[in-house]
Amino acid sequence: MYDFRLEEVAAWIDKVGARTVAVQMPEGLKTHAQDVSHEIEARTGASCLIIGDPCYGACDYAVRFREFADALVQFGHADIPSMTCDDRVLFVEIFMDVAIEGLLEQALPKLKDRIGLLTTVQHVRTLSRVKEWLGSHGKEALIGRGDPRIRFEGQVLGCNITSVTSIADRVDQLLYVGSGDFHPLSVAIEFDLPVLIIDPLMNEVREIGELKDKIMRQRFAAIARAAEARRFLVLVSTKAGQMRMGLAQELKRKAEAHGRSAEIVLLEELHPDRLLPYRADAYVSTACPRVAIDDNLRYKKPILTPPEMEIVLGERQWSEYRMDMILG
Ligand code: SF4
Repeated sequence: MYDFRLEEVAAWIDKVGARTVAVQMPEGLKTHAQDVSHEIEARTGASCLIIGDPCYGACDYAVRFREFADALVQFGHADIPSMTCDDRVLFVEIFMDVAIEGLLEQALPKLKDRIGLLTTVQHVRTLSRVKEWLGSHGKEALIGRGDPRIRFEGQVLGCNITSVTSIADRVDQLLYVGSGDFHPLSVAIEFDLPVLIIDPLMNEVREIGELKDKIMRQRFAAIARAAEARRFLVLVSTKAGQMRMGLAQELKRKAEAHGRSAEIVLLEELHPDRLLPYRADAYVSTACPRVAIDDNLRYKKPILTPPEMEIVLGERQWSEYRMDMILG
C-alpha cells in the first residue's frame, strides 16, 4: 500500500556515508518500521535504530539523533522548507496513488462552480488529476501555493493553510482530498466557505460543518472560562518546528499590560500532567496550534490559542476569531 522509496533512501544513506541510521515514523506507519529498517540494512550495510517516541510531523524530527546515529530518515512527512534543519536528515514523503474518479462522480451534485483544492502530502500528486477531472465536468478548480512552510502546491498542514489563503477569494467552495478531519477542520474554521471532503481511505464523500460547529462551541466555552483568569501559563514547545519564543514573550507582555500575570513554561511535549505543579487559571499554547483545539478536553483548565488569548484580553473581537497558524 505504501511506497517507502527505499532505493532513494539507500542512495542518500550511501551518499552521506552513514553507518548508523535513525528511523522515525508517525504512528500510522510504525507497524512497517521493522521491515523498512531490515530492508535499509540489507541495501546499505548500515545499522538502523527505530525511534519509538510519537512523531507528529516534520516539525517534530528527532533533533538529538546525532547522539546515537549518523543520519535520520523520517518517513511520512514532507520537509518544512522554512525550518532550520540538520543536513543529515532526510524526509521521505509517502505518496499514495488512489482511484478518485468514482468519488468525484459521487461528489459532483454537491460541487459549486469554482472550487479550491487542498490535500495532505500523501495525495499532492492526485490533485492535478482531480483538477483535470473537474475541468472536464465544467468546473473551475484552483490549487494554491502556500508560504515557505509548505513544500507542495495545494498541501496543507494542521498549522498552516496558506495554500488555501492564496486562492480563498476566488472560489465558492473548498474540496479536501484525503483521510480524516484534522486538516479540513482548520480550513473550515478559518474560511467562510463550505468544505467538502473526498476520503479515498473511507471511500466516502462527506461534509465537515457539524464538526466545525461542535469545535467552535468548545472554543467559545474555553474563551468564556478564561475571561476572568488572573494568571496564565504561556506554553512553548522545544520541538524544532514548533518553537515560537518571540510570540510567547509578546503574549506574556500583553497579559501583563492588561493587569494579568504570566509565566513562560518550556516543554518538549505538552501534557496536562506536566502542568500540575504550576499555579495558573488558564494556559495559552504557542506549540502546535492544534493542541488547544484537539486536546482541550484533556486539560482541567482552559487552554487557548494565541488569537483566543487576545479575545480574552479584549485586543480582538469575537467576530475576528482566527485559526492560529505557524507561518513560514
Ligand atoms: S505544528 Fe502541528 S500541525 Fe504543524 S506540522 Fe507540526 S504537528 Fe503538524
